[in-house]
Amino acid sequence: MKQQLAVRQKLAERYAEIRGRLEKITSDSRRANKPLDADFEEQAVERENDEVLAALDRSIRAEMAQIEKTLARLDKGEYGVCEVCGGPISPKRLEALPYAARCVVCEGKAGD
Ligand SMILES: [Zn+2]
Repeated sequence: MKQQLAVRQKLAERYAEIRGRLEKITSDSRRANKPLDADFEEQAVERENDEVLAALDRSIRAEMAQIEKTLARLDKGEYGVCEVCGGPISPKRLEALPYAARCVVCEGKAGD
């Protein structure tokens, strides 16, 4: 399906983009692994940066996992099909949430 090809391309682009960002974060935090600055205030700043980088790292990895899952669903022809009830996920919902694996009804039942 043409539409799915576009989705796949979009996901692949997004994946490459955030993977690049993750690599940059990894090299930044490697640089940050040098011994802490002797200055106490500097130490606080460095620790804070580490936390920000770690949080970013986590969110990027989570998104990468979602993209991988979505690509796998595309491969299996399950994209746009609710993983719970097997019904179709509305194109509008997929447009807003390309990683959606559940229809609105099942997502509502699942809570959160
Ligand atoms: Zn459903």
